[in-house]
Amino acid sequence: MGKWWEREPIRFECQADCFKCCVKPGIVHFDREDIRNAADFLKTTPAEFKKTYLTRDEGEWILEVGEEGEPCTFLTDQGCDIHEGKPKQCSSYPFWRENMDSKFMWRLVGGFCPGIDIGPMVPIETIKNFLKKFTH
Ligand code: SF4
Ligand code: SF4
Repeated sequence: MGKWWEREPIRFECQADCFKCCVKPGIVHFDREDIRNAADFLKTTPAEFKKTYLTRDEGEWILEVGEEGEPCTFLTDQGCDIHEGKPKQCSSYPFWRENMDSKFMWRLVGGFCPGIDIGPMVPIETIKNFLKKFTH
């Protein structure tokens, strides 16, 4: 049978100067690899990165976004300050399992993310890779 997105084309193009998903209240998860990548990018150590930016929650390292209306700590006027070292959760958005489960969910996320349903077609393999990348 396959997934609905294997049967119909999916289009997506992140919009310049949008950053809505970096302002929306929520949690950004950093696994061990994400911490290492971000720390390397900022030329610091994983321990220092965790101490400076992250908190421990139920056995995981997280960054809370939206507390008291504040955007993500790493958001600047030019976009994500750790763009090349950003975690898998961010680099795979909006191709998260919960968003891809049904066409209804994809449309719902499209009401928030202006990049959905415009731009080039996203190959099925690319979507599969995103889904493998961020498995929360
Ligand atoms: S909400 Fe969508 S279009 Fe806007 S920055 Fe996030 S992924 Fe890009
Ligand atoms: S880490 Fe970067 S991409 Fe992820 S929410 Fe923060 S500013 Fe946005």
